Amino acid sequence: MRNVVIIGSGCAGLTAAIYAARANLKPLVIRGLEGGGQLILTTLVENFPGFPKGVQGPELIERMQNQAAEFGAEFMEGHVTRADLSRRPLVIDVESEAIQTRTLIIASGALARMLGLESERKLLGHGVSTCATCDGYFYRGKEVAVVGGGDTAAEEALFLTRYATQVSIIHRRDQLRASKIMQDRLYHNPKINFIWDSQVVDVLDVDRGEVTGVKLKDTKTGDEAIKSCHGVFMGIGHSPNTSLFRGQLDMNEVGYLITHDGSKTNLPGVFAAGDVQDHVYRQAITAAGSGCMAAIDAERFLEAEH
Ligand code: NAP
Repeated sequence: MRNVVIIGSGCAGLTAAIYAARANLKPLVIRGLEGGGQLILTTLVENFPGFPKGVQGPELIERMQNQAAEFGAEFMEGHVTRADLSRRPLVIDVESEAIQTRTLIIASGALARMLGLESERKLLGHGVSTCATCDGYFYRGKEVAVVGGGDTAAEEALFLTRYATQVSIIHRRDQLRASKIMQDRLYHNPKINFIWDSQVVDVLDVDRGEVTGVKLKDTKTGDEAIKSCHGVFMGIGHSPNTSLFRGQLDMNEVGYLITHDGSKTNLPGVFAAGDVQDHVYRQAITAAGSGCMAAIDAERFLEAEH
């Protein structure tokens, strides 16, 4: 029987692990199949306090994991396949192993959203990407497109200008949703090209097994056009990893967990932290802060139970 099980090993999960481990609760962190959360897909993080020259995302995660392990946190690879929160102790299945726990901290994050096109799915990893920091390098000297008009799309596009000769931002409206500072950076970058009022309706060319361009539909006139490019990056937002908890935990219309009074969910002993419950801030530091809150809430819950 565990005191604390933490699902997820990004900034939120690892911060929860540090706090729970320092409280002698010997937390078990289920890392997931890849582990490390969004930061592992990032390069330089310049806004995490305490690193005036910035820190590489994977390094920051490794440091957090080492810090948690130092205080006695345990780690387990694998995917959570089922969660039964209807009884106490709570039961979490990690593949075939059932783990019982008094408290659960859900820090399972959010996944990149896709357009839902068959060609997009078939060419994923062959020119279609959801992560510029992971795949940007492959497009050195080539033309790429980024779909979306928010901060994610802006960040992806700006990162890609390091490698690509031209980065086309394809947006379904004629106004960006991205923050003012990101918009300014885009407008001042000569490698950025905007394609307004356009929806990607197909990614070419599935038969060749590589991206040669995208078919666009003008959202105002319905006209179709082809924009040639070697890679297309989906920057249209994220979906929270909460399907296991549907029907058990309160969530909003798009599936983000709803927390109250800190990190509490609607079930006693179940707490949530990081992007899985935050669609507004989505920053490493806010994820870390909410992980800390979840660990303290779990500790107080256990104390009150005794
Ligand atoms: P977002 O703000 O929801 O933007 C998603 C963008 O994708 C929107 O422009 C949306 O178009 C477009 N889009 C969504 N579904 C689409 C579809 N099916 N086809 C075509 N376009 C589609 O998501 P986000 O950019 O991931 O940002 C989420 C939150 O994280 C925001 O609060 C953002 O500020 C924050 N964030 C901050 C940073 C940073 O500070 N460095 C970095 C990343 C994210 P419409 O505009 O027409 O809806």
